Amino acid sequence: MVAVLRSGARRDAVPSDPLRLIFWENIGYLIDDDRRQRLFETFEATVGFNPAAIIAADGAALLAMAKQGGMRPETRVERWRTIARIVMEKCDGDLNAALRALPLVKARALLKTFPVIGDPGADKVLLFSGVAAKPCLESNGLRVLARLGLFAEQASYPASYNAAITVLVNRGQADRQWLMDAYLGLREHGKTLCKRGEPNCVPCPLDTVCGHVAVAAL
Ligand code: SF4
Repeated sequence: MVAVLRSGARRDAVPSDPLRLIFWENIGYLIDDDRRQRLFETFEATVGFNPAAIIAADGAALLAMAKQGGMRPETRVERWRTIARIVMEKCDGDLNAALRALPLVKARALLKTFPVIGDPGADKVLLFSGVAAKPCLESNGLRVLARLGLFAEQASYPASYNAAITVLVNRGQADRQWLMDAYLGLREHGKTLCKRGEPNCVPCPLDTVCGHVAVAAL
């Protein structure tokens, strides 16, 4: 299944540095990938993903940038400064080194102290930064796996997330490249065909296996 979806994935567009991955999630609010990418590049060129530089950056300049990224720009500026402060205070200025020095459970707990980073976000940072080959999904990919019938949706999102991750653990591969392809391919599939409102099943390459979970193969 992942091989079918792989063509739509844009692995090269995702940062591989943990701090950049956290900023990728925090740079904008409810904006599309292209706009997020442009704002991310503007931030890198003007401030840089350096915690000390972010703390020292001019507030008005940060706010002007945050306004390009959707609603609640003031909250976003505060979150950017919070991210930088956590890295300075808890990681001695180097998040990548701190994560690699910690046991996996503690690395994941550290990541969850950053703004908007919960279990899915922490797992994504661990995987895409190469700290651990840990399965991860975002909401589009989770929806695709549920509609395929690979797990039953649970009463809460965290419970559904855990159930979907169990599918990847049991039926996927413990290989970083495969897991990144799965994350990106499932996300793209959920955004383009298996949409939240109404799935577009006619052109879907998974139509022949969807609903026949007993024979579906990842
Ligand atoms: S066949 Fe339809 S419901 Fe199943 S994965 Fe494709 S778009 Fe989603």
